[in-house]
Amino acid sequence: MRTVEIVEVSPRDGLQNEQRIASTEAKLDLVDRLIEAGARRIEAVSFVHPKLVPAMADAEAVMARVPRRDGIRYIGLALNERGVRRAIDAGVDEVNFVIPATEAFALANQNTTRARLLDELAAVAPLLQDARLGLTLTVAVAFGCPFSGEVAPDEVARIVAEAARRAELAELALADTIGCAVPGQVEALFARDAIRTHTGRRAHFHETRHTAIANAFAALSAGVRALDSSVGGLGGCPFAPGAAGNVATEDLVWALERGGWATGIDAGSATEAGRAICAAVEVSPRSGLAAAGTFPPATPLEVPRQDHR
Ligand code: MG
Repeated sequence: MRTVEIVEVSPRDGLQNEQRIASTEAKLDLVDRLIEAGARRIEAVSFVHPKLVPAMADAEAVMARVPRRDGIRYIGLALNERGVRRAIDAGVDEVNFVIPATEAFALANQNTTRARLLDELAAVAPLLQDARLGLTLTVAVAFGCPFSGEVAPDEVARIVAEAARRAELAELALADTIGCAVPGQVEALFARDAIRTHTGRRAHFHETRHTAIANAFAALSAGVRALDSSVGGLGGCPFAPGAAGNVATEDLVWALERGGWATGIDAGSATEAGRAICAAVEVSPRSGLAAAGTFPPATPLEVPRQDHR
């Protein structure tokens, strides 16, 4: 069976935008459940200004208490140099640094320009090397921007090339931050020369317009072998109007496994983890498996008899 790595982002992208802020305890319980379900790479926190993203204010406290086990890696997301320094001090295993594809989203998300973010990337790269931490670059709004609309693939390729000149990127992630990408677009962008040549490529899809699973398969067709998802379909970006949840881990895993891809994740356990964290933040799970159960069913259903007389 072919394998694909699932990067579980529910503790970070899943919870950052919920009205009710999950307690540190609830986040740690989520991480335990994710590991139990088979997750090995978990985007656990982001290091952002607590006034702007209050749900992530306890990032250091979460990282201090997550279970440290062989083979489990924790990712911290950072939007600037200060965030990267906090991530290193907090003991993350990897850093995910975000640069948007558009100037408008850089301003809305990070209150700066793409050029300044590229400079910050250059500044943090040696810090990460000294700390022996992997660096992922995420290009946000790579498939469309809530403010400037269509994003030219050339622009994404340019940002990637500029970033690669400034830092050694262990991984390159393209994010459909607002969930507007379609499969042909995904396959084409990941197949572009500037992007295809990266050994580690990762895709981040949102389910806003119900194209996320189709997009995931398109990314696989283009050779991508790491996909982000969030149990319960939790998620959204606080600075991206209209952005709905991340693709639900349980739905993605179910579809992938049915398609002959090994994920290492148990869809049923992921569904339960999603239910638990959704209950903690008082929302309903947004996943097909939570609503309809898995297929085939674990126990055969009894055939109902209709009396048509
Ligand atoms: Mg996201």
